[in-house]
Amino acid sequence: MLFRDLVSVYERLDATSSRLEMTDILASFFRTAETSALRKAIYLTQGQLYPDFYQQKLGMADKLLIRTLSFVTGTREEKISEVQLKEGDLGSVAEKLYQGKRQTTLFSEPLTLDRVYSALERASSSEGGGSQDSKMKMLAEVLHDATPVEAKYISRIVTGKMRLGVAAMTMIDALSVAFATKEERDAVERAFNITSDMGLVGEVLSRSGLEGVKSIHVQVGNPIRVMLAERMSSPAEILEKMGGNCAFEYKYDGVRVQAHIKDGVVTLYSRRLEDLTSQFPDVVKALKESFTVGSAIVEGECVPVDLNTGEFLPFQEVSHRRGRKHGLEEAMEEYPVRICLFDLLYLDGQDMTEVTYLKRRAALTEAFRITDAAKLSEMRMLQSEEEVQKFFLEALRDGCEGLMAKSIGPDSFYRAGNRGFLWIKYKKEYRSEMNDTVDLVVVGAFAGRGKRKGVYGALLMATYNEQEDRFETVSKLGSGFDDAALAEIPKRLEQYRVQDKHHLVSSNMQADFWFEPGLVLEVRGAEITVSPIHTAAYGKVRKDGGLAIRFPRWTGKIRDDKGPREATRSDELLSMYRSQLKQIE
Ligand code: AMP
Repeated sequence: MLFRDLVSVYERLDATSSRLEMTDILASFFRTAETSALRKAIYLTQGQLYPDFYQQKLGMADKLLIRTLSFVTGTREEKISEVQLKEGDLGSVAEKLYQGKRQTTLFSEPLTLDRVYSALERASSSEGGGSQDSKMKMLAEVLHDATPVEAKYISRIVTGKMRLGVAAMTMIDALSVAFATKEERDAVERAFNITSDMGLVGEVLSRSGLEGVKSIHVQVGNPIRVMLAERMSSPAEILEKMGGNCAFEYKYDGVRVQAHIKDGVVTLYSRRLEDLTSQFPDVVKALKESFTVGSAIVEGECVPVDLNTGEFLPFQEVSHRRGRKHGLEEAMEEYPVRICLFDLLYLDGQDMTEVTYLKRRAALTEAFRITDAAKLSEMRMLQSEEEVQKFFLEALRDGCEGLMAKSIGPDSFYRAGNRGFLWIKYKKEYRSEMNDTVDLVVVGAFAGRGKRKGVYGALLMATYNEQEDRFETVSKLGSGFDDAALAEIPKRLEQYRVQDKHHLVSSNMQADFWFEPGLVLEVRGAEITVSPIHTAAYGKVRKDGGLAIRFPRWTGKIRDDKGPREATRSDELLSMYRSQLKQIE
C-alpha cells in the first residue's frame, strides 16, 4: 500500500467530526485495503505502532523532530520553533516547510506504508547511547521522501499527536460495515473486547470474515477489557433487579489488576490495560505461589494492608510505590499488598468469559491456593435485605467500600468491556469526610507484628460518652508513630495497665492489653463510617452499628493537657459525622 493512500484517508477524517462520516470513510478504505497492510494501517490511524497495551510508545520529543525537519528541509531549528509557536501543531509546520522548500527535489520515490511503518518501528525501539542520533537518521530517511501532507502525518504520529478523533467504537462500526453486517457488529466488538487489539481484529476480518472473528478467543498475553458495574442505592432494589437471589462480594478499595499467568510468568495489567508488573513484585510472587500449574487469567483488587492493625489502607498511603524503582523493597515491607481475587477469565485453554458466574467462581476456588497475600474476595449468596445490610456492614468494618452484587443467572457471563446490571455496586453512603482532628483515649492495645514485634502494634482508641460515663471504641490506631514514639508510648501507658477490660470501657473487640482510660492522643482520621464492631454512638445512626474513624493517624501530640473525660465525646463525633455526611457520589 502506498502511504499516500492512507494519508488521503487521514485528510478526509481530519476534515470531519461526524462519527457517521468517519465510519463511511474508514469502511470504504478497509474494503479496498490489502489484508497484509490493514493491521499496520489501523495502528497508525490510532496514532500507534502496536495495540494499546504494548509498553513501547512512540512519543518522540518535539525537539528531536525539529532537528530532523531542519536537517531534511535545510530550515534553521530556531525558525521552525518560531513557526511552531504560532502554529502549535508541528504536523502543520512540517507541511508548510515542505510546501515552501525544494519541493521538486524533496520527494523522489513514493513512500510505501511498509517503509514508513518500519522506519517508525526502528526509531521507537532504538535505545541507549547515541539513540537520539539513530532515531533522527531513521526518521530523516522517510521524511526525505515524503510529500508535504505525508510529512504532516508522519510528524503527528511520531510525536504522539495523531488525534484524528477516531474512537474505538467508530473503528468497530467501520470494520463491521466493511466486512460483516450491522447485526454481526457484536461479534466484532467482542473480539476487540477480549483481545484489546484492533489491528488483529481488522486483519482477521479481512482475511477470514466473520467466521474468523468468531474463532478469536481469550488468550494469555492479550489483556481483556474489563467488565464494569452499574450502581444502585439499596439492597431491596438490587435484589429485585437480580431476581431475588445473587452473589454479594466485598467491594475492595484498591487497584484493579488483571493477571496473566503462563509457565510461571506473571504479567499484571491495570484496568486501563497498562502493564503494572514491575510495580507489584509482591503480587507477582503471591500469584506464583498460589497458582502453580498451567495458565490462567484472573482479576482481583490489590489492597495494601497494615500488618499491625490487619486493616486495609487507602491506596494513597502507598501511592509512592507507583512508578518508583528504588526503595520498592522497603515499600513492600512497610505496606504489603494483598490481592483479593474475584474472577477467572481463562484457565488452561478454556475461555472462561463464556461461563456463568458460579462456575467461574468454583473454578477460581479450585485453581488457586489461598495464602496470606492472595485471597479470594469474600462472597456470600444472599436473598434478604437484612442479610445484605449485615454483610455490607461487615465489608465496611473490614475497610471495604461496600459490596458488589453479581448475577448468578444463566446469562451471567463475563461481559468484557461492558457496563451492565449483571454486576451492581452498592457503595457506602454512611461515610463522612473528616477535616478536623479528634482527641481519643487509649483503652487497649494489640501485640505488634513485623517491625513492631515486641512493642504495641496498634492502640485501641475510644471517645467519651458523657451521658453514660463510658469510653466507647472508634478505631485501631497504628499509623503516625516513629521509633521514638514507639518506645515512649508504652512507658507512658504502663501506669494505666489493667488485667482485663476496664469497667468504664465498652468494647466488642478483644484487645491483647487493656488500660484504664487515661492517656489522650490527638488523631487525624480520613473519614467517619458506620461500623458494626465499634461502640461509639452505637445505635444512633443505625440500630446495629456504631461509628468508626477510618485511616486514623497520630498527629504526634500527646494531649497531656486533657484528662480522659475531656477527650472528644461520642455525641460530638456523631454531629461531626452528620454535618459532614458525604452523599453517594
Ligand atoms: P467503581 O470503580 O466504583 O466503578 O467500581 C468498580 C471497581 O470496583 C472495579 O473496577 C474493581 O476495581 C473494584 N472492585 C473491588 N472489589 C470488587 C469485586 N469483588 N468485584 C468486582 N470489582 C471489584
